[in-house]
Amino acid sequence: MSSRGWCTSFAILLILGSKSLAALSFDFTYIDDANGTFATRGWLDPDSLFQQNIRAAAELWGAQFDSDETIVIDIDPMSFAARAGGTNTLGRFLYQNAAGKDVWEFGPLTRILTGDNPGEDFFGFDILLGFEAEFVEDYYWFDPQPELRSASVPSDKGDFVSVVLHEMGHGFGMTGYRDYDTGEISGDTATQFDDLSYYGGDGNPFDSNGDPNPLFFGGNLAASLYGSDLPLTHKPSDDFLFSQNFYHLSACNAASADSLEGTLMNGCVLPDGERLYITPFDMAVYADMGYPLAELPGDYNDSGTVDTADYVVWRKYDGSQVGYDTWRAHFGATADNGSGAHGNAAVPEPINLSQIILAAAAVFTRRRRCTWAVQNS
Ligand SMILES: [Zn+2]
Repeated sequence: MSSRGWCTSFAILLILGSKSLAALSFDFTYIDDANGTFATRGWLDPDSLFQQNIRAAAELWGAQFDSDETIVIDIDPMSFAARAGGTNTLGRFLYQNAAGKDVWEFGPLTRILTGDNPGEDFFGFDILLGFEAEFVEDYYWFDPQPELRSASVPSDKGDFVSVVLHEMGHGFGMTGYRDYDTGEISGDTATQFDDLSYYGGDGNPFDSNGDPNPLFFGGNLAASLYGSDLPLTHKPSDDFLFSQNFYHLSACNAASADSLEGTLMNGCVLPDGERLYITPFDMAVYADMGYPLAELPGDYNDSGTVDTADYVVWRKYDGSQVGYDTWRAHFGATADNGSGAHGNAAVPEPINLSQIILAAAAVFTRRRRCTWAVQNS
């Protein structure tokens, strides 16, 4: 957040007595099927953990962007028959690229930049999330305090907030038009993500042996942060990660780690019993597509570092859970590295606003069990 942005927020807070810092907001519509799949589970109730978990994930996304717009999200039980999924509408034509493809802007981004999304006018949403209810019930865990994200995730379940975060990531702009069989963009239309990704090797989707060539995301900001263009997931058709092709970070090559396996938008795994977080590598991808990022989320006093002084500002002027979560997630980050501490630093808990309690968060360990392959698109 810029100095100007903070002062503006401050002024509005004083006038309205609001308890929220400026952030992207969301308008949710739950669309049930004819069987009442959501209704019979109580998931049309705004107080249900299903909806609470979705809202908490959305608020974490909202804090990442420098915008006061409202993103329109539809959520249904039928659009993604396989477990969970997220997509979007396209907002506006941007340009024709060297390959002759019409490159379109993601609708959520068009809304953030212009206040409107023509794709939403037509289809009714900026982002569409779909959840297969039975799978969600059987394999995911609803966080009872999704805004805290501190309860232990059962070792045999996936964290639903993490799932929603991931699918919303697809909704904001990790989708496109590559054909699963050929790896090519078959029609005339491409997304910004398509336009910024390319094949290594001989430049074709498959090499002369018929094996998949590596796929990369070539955005400048992401490459600058990572040190080179970011490997994306591109697996052969007989690989269990085949369905993750093109629109996920990491090559997911067990024999050759690329350090993107732990990103939110990784195509490798949602580890049971653990949480995923929005990482700087994830956000750099969205920045490359034109999303205006909050300069340093959680740096409420614009000091260039997210530290206890920001907690004091949050306590005095904000007090919201999402404001706290954002601060905590980036605790220790600086304007130079932009990355947060994610649970390995001693940070104050908001248990009692009149006290600052130091608590060591759980160590972030990694295990690899179930995979995105069977859980999302
Ligand atoms: Zn995915």
